[in-house]
Amino acid sequence: MVTSTLTNTAPAPDRFGLAGRPRQVLALYATVLAAAIALITGGLLIPGPVPGDAPLSVFGGLGVAAAVVAGGQLARLRFRLGRGTVSVSWGEAAFIIGSALVPPGWLPLATFAGAAGAWLLISWLSDHRSIADIVHLAASLTVGAAGAAAVSTLVGAGSGAGDTRWLAGMVAGACAYLVITLGLATLTLALHRDASAGQILGRALNAKIPMLVGNVLIALLGLWVLLREPLWLLAFPPALWLLQRTYRHHLVAEEERRVWAAFAKATAALPGVVEADVVTAGLSGAMDVFGARRVEIELRRPGGGLRRYYEDAPGQDVAASGLPGPVITRTMTVAGTTVGELTVWLSEPTLPVTRDELAVSAYGDALAGALHDAASHERLVQLEARVARDDVQDQLTGLLNRSALLGDGDRALRAVARERHVGLMLVDLRRFREVNDTLGHRSGDEVLTVIAQRITDLARDGELVARIGDDEFAVLMPAVLALTDSASRLQEAPNPLPQVVRRARDLAEQIARPMEVASVRLSVEASVGVVVSRAGLGDAAELIRRAGLALQHAKDLGLTVGTYDSARDLGSTDRLALLAELRDALEVTDQIVLALQPAVDLETGAPTGVEALTRWKHPRRGQLSPGEFIPMVERSELLGAFTRYVLDRSLAAAASWARAGFDLPVSVNISARSLLDPTLPAQVADLLRRNHTPPDQLVLEITESVAVSDLEIVDEVLAGLRDTGVQLSVDDFGTGYSSLTFLTRVCVDELKVDRSFVDGMIDSPAAEAAVRGAVELGGRLGARVVAEGVETAEQRVALIELGCTVAQGYHFCQPLPDDKIVYALRQLAEAAPAKIVPLRADDAS
Ligand code: C2E
Ligand code: MG
Ligand code: MG
Repeated sequence: MVTSTLTNTAPAPDRFGLAGRPRQVLALYATVLAAAIALITGGLLIPGPVPGDAPLSVFGGLGVAAAVVAGGQLARLRFRLGRGTVSVSWGEAAFIIGSALVPPGWLPLATFAGAAGAWLLISWLSDHRSIADIVHLAASLTVGAAGAAAVSTLVGAGSGAGDTRWLAGMVAGACAYLVITLGLATLTLALHRDASAGQILGRALNAKIPMLVGNVLIALLGLWVLLREPLWLLAFPPALWLLQRTYRHHLVAEEERRVWAAFAKATAALPGVVEADVVTAGLSGAMDVFGARRVEIELRRPGGGLRRYYEDAPGQDVAASGLPGPVITRTMTVAGTTVGELTVWLSEPTLPVTRDELAVSAYGDALAGALHDAASHERLVQLEARVARDDVQDQLTGLLNRSALLGDGDRALRAVARERHVGLMLVDLRRFREVNDTLGHRSGDEVLTVIAQRITDLARDGELVARIGDDEFAVLMPAVLALTDSASRLQEAPNPLPQVVRRARDLAEQIARPMEVASVRLSVEASVGVVVSRAGLGDAAELIRRAGLALQHAKDLGLTVGTYDSARDLGSTDRLALLAELRDALEVTDQIVLALQPAVDLETGAPTGVEALTRWKHPRRGQLSPGEFIPMVERSELLGAFTRYVLDRSLAAAASWARAGFDLPVSVNISARSLLDPTLPAQVADLLRRNHTPPDQLVLEITESVAVSDLEIVDEVLAGLRDTGVQLSVDDFGTGYSSLTFLTRVCVDELKVDRSFVDGMIDSPAAEAAVRGAVELGGRLGARVVAEGVETAEQRVALIELGCTVAQGYHFCQPLPDDKIVYALRQLAEAAPAKIVPLRADDAS
């Protein structure tokens, strides 16, 4: 007469609790079938005798037995197992007491009625379980009761109530009840995949064994009291209450041990390097620790949004079913920063809810830490990726950068057959600095981005486009192909240079297309240096270097496209070495020297001034003319020092001929770029002072330049120079782009008509007209007009006829070293009166 129940009380999602769970349906059918057989065979075949003097009628006994079974179920204790809850009840006690009230064959019926009634009541009051679950539970217990009745009947056959055999029968029945109900519950839970069968059995036995012993003892004692001293039954309720408390305490202690073990395991699994992994571990860990129905993690995104992750227990759909149960939400924070929220839908609590709340808080803290670590790690990985990307990518345009072009370019070049041609176009934007200066750097960036896109659009497959300097782009062409007319196929021509030059021109044209930036319509012009070479002859760096020389050549000549010429390369290969040597040369006095060329009165030939031209007596390379080193100086930071040096030497030379009695000004050539130096006027004034030279004895010759003429600073410097009292001269007048504009912006004392016009004026009416125009303009501006490069008497006569008064050229005097200038001036001066030329050209020969 000893029974016990062990039931799976995992809640079900639908009314019958069976949707999509075929194995559970099978288990349900099997159990119900077994219960039905038990009911029929028990009731019809083996009702058996009621032991002892049954105090009640059979039907009365049946009712009381069912009530006892129901009471045993209602006083159940629950504990979490896997992701469900398991109930343990007073089933064994109910079985033993029931055995004393009805024949053993009726026990299944009493159990079915009592269990079904109790679970319907539980379901109605709190659990809201499905009909199928209730039927399944009642059927399981019925099968257990039938088995127990059969075993106790067999063991205790022929015994009288209360004798040893009867007692043995009761104990054996109670054990059979436990084994059968436990077996069925294990099967059901295992089918739910809530936990492994071994785990379920282990935990259930641990909870159940002490209860079985207590149940059997209390039931036997109860029977004994009922039969012998019914009054003592009054002492039972407190005893039962105490026993229930003890069981409960045992379960709670066990549950706490389990929770912390699961907690330790779950938090150990939390750390991860990817947020998604941590979230997955966090969800499944929380499900295990809390035996939850659902766990939800809501994370705050850096941009302000939220991302929600959740996991439901198998067969659960909390959102859909809205199953009740305690819900605990905790905000997860790390060092005061909110990471997100953790919400746990608990199944029936076995621990007091406050302890669950504490556990959820602690779990949330561990999870927040792990998420924070993962996020930091992810950011670190992203940062590393960005650093790696920045290593190869230009941040502004997304093009390759210089080092990537060198690396990728070399790889691409190595893949090309040695005899094929490869090429490189180097693009430099003209006057890009002005865009930055006038429209601001943001607009400058926008212009660069547009141009980068235009270059990319024109690049062919396999070509590498890079930004290798502020306003410098390169297109590396691992194949230099052109459309052949015959088959419209791309093919390499025997000499591919002209095609590449054509492409470079296209490129420059595309770049120069007007664009609108900061509401300003502008167009940026570009110079392109082009090199084409056999693939085997050099690496990407060499191609860039050669294209750089070609680009410089284009800029020097004011061309759009320049090509690489190996002959020019010899002079400029070691430009950098030359710069270093120039630094040393400026420290001594015998390397950068002056060649002095007098300017003369065209009619008398008397000297009117002297121009200082520089030469570099290079210890190894021999004498270098200004054209060979001045362009390099102009692009280096040595320009300031060089200009000071030349000015100082020129003023010293002027002092030397002044001492010899020639009160003549010295003309010094100033690079246009020096006009960007706001300290130039002060430096000039200082040098004049130190050389004791009156300011009007210095003429500064400036070749106006497109690059600087528009800038405000140039106006300021020119005005400053004027204020010092020095004379200003426009050199090479007529060759620049904006000679006339230049004259409107600054008041000049002298125009030097370029040699090319003087050279051509005899044969070319246009050249002659240019000289005439310059002379007239000079007259109107009150400026002296000097003709440069006069080489013949014929030119001299022609110039005099045009009204030009001063000239310079080999016809009068070559540029001379400074120790010869005084002698030359003296000769010119002495010869002057005799050299008045006739005014008719035909007499000049
Ligand atoms: P420039 O100022 O126009 O100087 C005149 C150039 O013509 C000089 O060349 C001179 O030697 C040359 N020349 C003079 N008379 C004749 C002639 O009858 N026929 C021919 N064919 N040439 C003649 P150089 O010395 O080679 O200087 C070239 C240019 O270099 C100069 O042109 C000047 O612009 C620049 N330069 C020279 N020295 C300096 C300097 O110290 N600083 C700067 N910034 N530029 C300089
Ligand atoms: Mg000059
Ligand atoms: Mg000149």
